[in-house]
Amino acid sequence: MRKLKNVKIFVMGLVAGMLLVGTTVFAAGAIASAAFNANRVIFDGDELDLDMPLVSIVTEANPDFFSNYMPVRAVLEAMGYEVDWDGANNAVLVTTRAIAPVTANELGATVWLSATGIRYHSVNDCGNMDPARARSMTRQQARDDGHQACAICW
Ligand SMILES: [Zn+2]
Repeated sequence: MRKLKNVKIFVMGLVAGMLLVGTTVFAAGAIASAAFNANRVIFDGDELDLDMPLVSIVTEANPDFFSNYMPVRAVLEAMGYEVDWDGANNAVLVTTRAIAPVTANELGATVWLSATGIRYHSVNDCGNMDPARARSMTRQQARDDGHQACAICW
């Protein structure tokens, strides 16, 4: 697995499947090349289920190095945020989703942990989880073990 060393959220990048031709000029200089890649994003131990690929960008100023740029909507939605586009202000609007508080009887509910994840899920196949490797426990046990709820399935 290739390790992502220079992951940056490129806010003016791909929004809602649309490549924005920006009015903002960044100090990085001209782009020498840009290409979609198959790199994955692991968030708190769980692979994000992205519907768009990352982009490798090489700048003319630093031709021996590439940076991974992520499609902001796909990544943030996979992390559990709401994403909107404010075209009038050239702004990506990121909002934390409201997560309902946990009631006492919900603590006895069965939750699932992926083989490597640190978040617990309400289903055993959230995102790219392998159901065959997921393990179940009560929500109380998961919380007692320091796990937090997945923002996608809760
Ligand atoms: Zn989940």
